[in-house]
Amino acid sequence: MAESVPNGNLSFKNNRNNNKPSFVVRREKLLEQRKSLSIASVERRLVEEVQKHDVLIIVGETGSGKTTQIPQFLFDSGFCGHGKTIGVTQPRRVAAVTVAKRVAEECGVGLGQKVGYSIRFEDVTSSSTRIKYMTDGLLLREALLDPYLSRYSVIVVDEAHERTVHTDVLLGLLKKVQNVRSKYIKDHTSAGHKRASNGTILEKENADPSISVLKQCQGRKLSPLKLVIMSASLDAHIFSEYFGGAKAVRVLGRQFPVDVFYTVDPQTDYLDSAIVTIFQIHSEEAPGDILVFLTGQEEIESVEKQIHENLQRLPEEKRNMKTVTIFSSLPSEQQMRVFAPAPAGFRKVILATNIAETSVTIPGIKYVIDPGVVKARSYDPVKGMESLIIVPTSKAQAIQRSGRAGREGPGKCFRLYPESEYEKLEDSTKPEIKRCNLSNVILQLKALGVDDIFGFDFIEKPSREAIKKSLEELILLGALSDELKLSDPVGRQMARLPLDPVYSKALILGSQFKCLDEMLIAVAMLSVESMFYEPREKLDLARTAKKCFASSEGDHLTLINFLESGARKTSSIAVLCDMPVTSTVKSADTLNKWAFAFRLAEMTHFSSADALLLLFFLNAALKQPDGTYRALASGEVVQIHPTSVLFRTKADCIVFNEFVKTTNKYIRNITIIDGFWLTELAPHYYAKQD
Ligand code: ADP
Ligand code: MG
Repeated sequence: MAESVPNGNLSFKNNRNNNKPSFVVRREKLLEQRKSLSIASVERRLVEEVQKHDVLIIVGETGSGKTTQIPQFLFDSGFCGHGKTIGVTQPRRVAAVTVAKRVAEECGVGLGQKVGYSIRFEDVTSSSTRIKYMTDGLLLREALLDPYLSRYSVIVVDEAHERTVHTDVLLGLLKKVQNVRSKYIKDHTSAGHKRASNGTILEKENADPSISVLKQCQGRKLSPLKLVIMSASLDAHIFSEYFGGAKAVRVLGRQFPVDVFYTVDPQTDYLDSAIVTIFQIHSEEAPGDILVFLTGQEEIESVEKQIHENLQRLPEEKRNMKTVTIFSSLPSEQQMRVFAPAPAGFRKVILATNIAETSVTIPGIKYVIDPGVVKARSYDPVKGMESLIIVPTSKAQAIQRSGRAGREGPGKCFRLYPESEYEKLEDSTKPEIKRCNLSNVILQLKALGVDDIFGFDFIEKPSREAIKKSLEELILLGALSDELKLSDPVGRQMARLPLDPVYSKALILGSQFKCLDEMLIAVAMLSVESMFYEPREKLDLARTAKKCFASSEGDHLTLINFLESGARKTSSIAVLCDMPVTSTVKSADTLNKWAFAFRLAEMTHFSSADALLLLFFLNAALKQPDGTYRALASGEVVQIHPTSVLFRTKADCIVFNEFVKTTNKYIRNITIIDGFWLTELAPHYYAKQD
């Protein structure tokens, strides 16, 4: 028999990794990735700069490794001696969570051990945590319990360019804390106190009580506080000037060229244009992932559904596209999915809010689609109205977004507006503190012992009117006395709850009126973006589903009905409504724990609608002859949003808790009230209207 010669090709694989367990291979790969980051080559120098300066500003391109690497460099250089922690603040919760997970993995430790995170409603840290990622708002809250942040040796304020209101207030607070800590140490060394070998001052038993600083620090060991301010944009001079000419260093990143394209004509519907562009790239361009910037959860979910429907219409071989989403209210167990590579031969399409602009860097992106809009807070201090509106991005944001396409190789950015529009954009975004309601911030500052709000050393001062309006609101809610002092217990309790003052008050009233359970549910549900998902193409089905829960009293009780029945019949409802039950139940659950703190007077004859009225009395509106409503406090003429169960109501008097400005001025989340109660329940406010 003739010997047969085998034909065809065999696939070969080198056996370098064959004998290693997969976790070892993964660790080696992570180490390799860490070493290849541009920041790795300047580790020594950065650490020396932090050692030399009390405040250091680090400017570096996104993706260069600032957030994940710098805390590790500092840890490795001994900044966590004597049980001290490095705190890293992020404006966004998603960034705090995903980065902490990544860094824990890079360090080869379980999350919550050496590396952990802490965000509202979720604390994944332990006594052994030394690198702690958290939101800037959370650190402010910690300062209520530990005014000198004594457990931290270094605080890294990340993404400072975002200039969120919490970042701005935090910078002011940190400046103060740093001065106090230095002064404390100076006073103590001159007074002959003992110094431990690491420079920590050991507290003397009977310290001089006349020094207020000392009084507050009693029983703690204080060391100097190092501050590192990190920013992705070049406006370091603002921070440098604020910190008395602090040193700024620049870390260069690797950036490949990005071709920017504009539409020839203005687009009327950027969601449709984004979908068209996604499929155009998919059919015409080389492999590479696509990042699409949208403004919020609703848009993201609606675009995702439409992509899937379009894919069904394509021939099998063109359906090689996978979508992933990332937005702030995405449950944290789902957030890491965005980093997983698409299956071989597939193109990943990432639908993101501006979280992906600088906070979170996702590998593999070659194409960026930028509709040129962002959801932003806007506040009218005269009317006292805060609203979320979709506004054009700034030039700085447009540049950041396009840069995301050029991290690993040359890329392309498709801006869904004509070039002439780009020229009209503002250079940079106005700091949030200049365009938001300040009640929350003022309450926090008051609780931190800052009495003179007008005189507080803000990096950029909010307007006098805005401060005045918020002080008035806090007086009306009972958080401040007429002399602008924090009231006890109400103001103090409100400051401790991680909620908008109006929601904190809701819980206090809920407890008072024996409807705390309902209040907890309502507040929890109002704290997540949207409970009812209404895709445009299935509007009727979604509205019918919602009707099952509708309460004739309004949207707040509808939400309560929804969650209560949802908990029993989750499966059928979830399918119809796509509701994020888990995250809401989780926040209701956490809120429940605080509820025990309230031991207030019992008043049994109030209903939850009455409590809601008390809560939102600032947002009462009266019907006008033409069917529109007039908001009492602001005088604004508004319409009921079509998503409200009361869209067709003829009630004379309602309260609402959200004002939305799109093409029309809408109010959302509404409850019918008896106008009589306005003067009865909130006489201090409505009496003076006449
Ligand atoms: P910067 O803060 O300078 O913008 P980062 O430290 O956030 O940079 O990111 C550094 C690198 O780590 C980036 O290449 C990013 O893609 C990668 N990275 C960060 N988090 C993750 C993650 N969870 N999974 C995979 N890669 C990640
Ligand atoms: Mg970063």
